[in-house]
Amino acid sequence: MVSEHGAPMSLNLHTMDEIWNSAYMRNVRRGMLKGERISACEVCYESEAASGQSYRTHTGLEPVSGYRQTPALMGKYGATAGYRVEQRPRFIKLEISNLCNLKCRMCYGAASSQIERDPAHSRWSGGVEPLHAIWRGQTARLGPEPRIGVRVSGLYPHEYYDNIVRCWTDGRAIFNVPLQVGTHLDSLEIAFHHAGIKGQRYQVIVNGRPLAKGILQNAAAPVVIDLNGIDGGRELVVEILSNKIIENAGDPERGVPLSAIVLHRHVQETPANDTNRPQLISPRPGVEGPWYMDDHKVFDDVLKSVDTLERLYITGGEPLINERVAEILEYLVDTGAASRIHLELSTNCTSVDARYIERIKKFRRVELLLSLDAVGSTYEYIRYPARWSVVDANVRKLKYEHGLVCKVPPVVQVYNILGLVDLYRYCDAMDFEVTMNILHMPDRLAIHHLPPRVRKVAAARLMDYHDSDCRPFSKPSVLSLARYLDGLDTPFDRAVVHELMLFTNDLDATRGQSFRNTHAELVQLLAEDGFEWTDETRFATGDRKMRSARERDYAWL
Ligand code: SF4
Repeated sequence: MVSEHGAPMSLNLHTMDEIWNSAYMRNVRRGMLKGERISACEVCYESEAASGQSYRTHTGLEPVSGYRQTPALMGKYGATAGYRVEQRPRFIKLEISNLCNLKCRMCYGAASSQIERDPAHSRWSGGVEPLHAIWRGQTARLGPEPRIGVRVSGLYPHEYYDNIVRCWTDGRAIFNVPLQVGTHLDSLEIAFHHAGIKGQRYQVIVNGRPLAKGILQNAAAPVVIDLNGIDGGRELVVEILSNKIIENAGDPERGVPLSAIVLHRHVQETPANDTNRPQLISPRPGVEGPWYMDDHKVFDDVLKSVDTLERLYITGGEPLINERVAEILEYLVDTGAASRIHLELSTNCTSVDARYIERIKKFRRVELLLSLDAVGSTYEYIRYPARWSVVDANVRKLKYEHGLVCKVPPVVQVYNILGLVDLYRYCDAMDFEVTMNILHMPDRLAIHHLPPRVRKVAAARLMDYHDSDCRPFSKPSVLSLARYLDGLDTPFDRAVVHELMLFTNDLDATRGQSFRNTHAELVQLLAEDGFEWTDETRFATGDRKMRSARERDYAWL
């Protein structure tokens, strides 16, 4: 996430250049050159610790050409240029919406429209709350967690306490919200977290006018401030002032614990004003909808320096069912840029449309990253509702009919750890390179939380494969993963495995799948480690109706 003034940045609100040389990016460059650990790179670090591989190591092996700089030179440059890079990126990764036809178990709503619409899965994957501050009808949540479009200061990082978001102020929190002209404000609601109420005196100032004050005695009712007399103009500035307390000995001084900041407006539902459709609270002037649907944004900003672009990675959602991806590919082909660009494209292999294939073949070099984590019934269990027979046929078509270079980057997780060797053998037969991604989040699906017996069996299986028919170039990563699993000393965390069971059973119940049938060996091994798999569920008994496609937030953001 790229943040500035406490707010994430987005192409919906910022230019490519603003993001490329933002304070956050310059700080990342500085940290990398000094050899610091970058928190946003944690997924790759963890994958490398387990298997010696990650996306950055694969990419690092094939750098964009002719641009090698020594750390000393870069350090000197950083010191004089403040870590700004005037040349635009030669490698861009594009995520063109969350449009997808699958709801893979390890995925989440922001990456898959099907999960976003699925009432059970979306609740497990953090709901459907987008990062942007948006109007949904009359209301918009401004925070206190970071929201694109809302600048904040005076807040500690947010946390979850008793399953409710909590964000401490430092005694003077400021929320700065650019508004569309003509927004008719109604009220502002400020909710405090129940943990941390200590009789603090607070005052709320809106656009310079003190509008509420009091003493925090309980969190039962939010503070509601009437904004009808306030002219929001183009900007709303909310200051929350308070005295400071020390909650526990040794803690820093803090102000008040916030759990929600919600804005209300007056808005009329008319045929021209579809208020069911999410709207950015502070859209770019004259533009509705997400950045990737705006030609000016895509072609004149993001792809402005297409002459010097050397490498492009397109992922989704599922790019090969996305019309907008087809248009972008067509543009790059028509402008002649394709012949200079190395294209990487992720695909779940459920659809092989000749129009897309002909376009991608025109690029200088093409690599398809096939989203396969297993074969047969285990594949179908993970990547619902895909059919292995269809996917296998498409994979063969991509390789043998179209002659495309394919790699397989499986997401190594609880559901495929015992069957990983089957996938390796499939890839061996197809002559595909396997580049493992070790799943890091969510915790419940991560292999380091598996009980010892499962880890040992998985490690032994990988070691057998390594010592027998494993291809030489796969050996280092297979051996590394086997040793990692064998050497793990994470204690058996029953709470995490219990959560895995609830999540799994919820999805089984709503999809007509069965963990017991597909993963009988895993159930048995868990039982031997003292964990009994029951039929308990958490959300499966609730509403099972898919949200309509029209209500999808990410289609508009
Ligand atoms: S195919 Fe990719 S984007 Fe779609 S649900 Fe699966 S992992 Fe997510």
